[in-house]
Amino acid sequence: MKPSVIEIRNQVEEIYQQVVDFRRKIHQNPELSNKEFATTEFIISILKENNIEYKRITETGAVGIIGNGDNCIALRADIDALPIKEETGLPFASQNPGIMHACGHDFHTAILLGSAIILKKFEEHLNGTIKLIFQPSEELIPGGALKMIKAGVLDNPRPKYVFGQHIYPELNTGEIAVSAGPVMAAADELYWNLYGKGSHAAQPHMGNDPLIVAAHLIIHLQAMLNKNKNPFSPAVLSVTSVIGGKATNIFPEFASMQGTLRTFDESLRSKLHKLIENNSRQIASLFDVKCDVEVRKGFPALINNSELVEKFKDIANQALGVNNVHSFEPKMWAEDFAYFAREIPSVFWFLGVKQSVDSEVVPLHNSKLNPDEQAMKTGMLAMVSAAMELL
Ligand SMILES: [Zn+2]
Ligand SMILES: [Zn+2]
Repeated sequence: MKPSVIEIRNQVEEIYQQVVDFRRKIHQNPELSNKEFATTEFIISILKENNIEYKRITETGAVGIIGNGDNCIALRADIDALPIKEETGLPFASQNPGIMHACGHDFHTAILLGSAIILKKFEEHLNGTIKLIFQPSEELIPGGALKMIKAGVLDNPRPKYVFGQHIYPELNTGEIAVSAGPVMAAADELYWNLYGKGSHAAQPHMGNDPLIVAAHLIIHLQAMLNKNKNPFSPAVLSVTSVIGGKATNIFPEFASMQGTLRTFDESLRSKLHKLIENNSRQIASLFDVKCDVEVRKGFPALINNSELVEKFKDIANQALGVNNVHSFEPKMWAEDFAYFAREIPSVFWFLGVKQSVDSEVVPLHNSKLNPDEQAMKTGMLAMVSAAMELL
């Protein structure tokens, strides 16, 4: 007999304080992408303590394994932190200068550890294998998901479904939000180097000014985007940095620009890559400036499997209550869980962490982010219920 919602809820209550301790310990010791050595040691120590089998298939990160057999479901948490100086003033604030868990990955990791402990207790009721993926480097392209997939995290046994979640500061504690189809964008980094010829500012005809090229590019790229995409296909191109020149009377010989491109549709994505490269060079050439453009491909769009979302919603309605399960509008953020979802039917949902209706909303990647720890109960309930019901 599978454990009932009430039994799962009791288990969640029983280990909650332990999970809070996990979270605070991880929060206090944040590590940057691909450098999650202490975090991984900590994860492994908890798995070991609870007699959960584990594998370390990448330098940082680990996979826990519960149950056995080819029928398999994977649950994933990301474990890395950000280069941000924490300003929460919490007693368990970061002890690593300039590094902070400002994206809630401390929550994700602690929730998955808690879920692992509960699932281990229910092991005899499992009709197969649960893989617990503690994934490094979500914040840095090319992303730890790709690395783990290449290292075989989805092989032997291959999961039939993968589930993941992310904290969401605008949603109340106790609630989640989940939607079908494309939910997060593909994100590509854009870099331009503009090589001109320096001259006296009073003699523009003697040089080739890279700054006027930068100005034209910023305007042109918006028009180019507007004229090349279907209005119903979302896309954003943002130029976020222009650097060049340092005096009122000198045209510099060099300028650089950076930006980001966000899309959902793969064919639009590659069409825009070509246009950005070709048009930038052509515009620069009008001013006799040489332009090097680099489009650094990031994560693909994250697409939630529609059928699985329906199944998951039914389970979440049961576990959390119909009023606590919402949908959300697609986001232009990016998330490397997309690589799992590209290979295997997957669902990624948002977990509410807003303490009360009038709590101030502090966004992700902010130095004052302080999510409500009670939300970890909801996170465990959703994870464990999905795994138990769908295995
Ligand atoms: Zn983040
Ligand atoms: Zn994140």
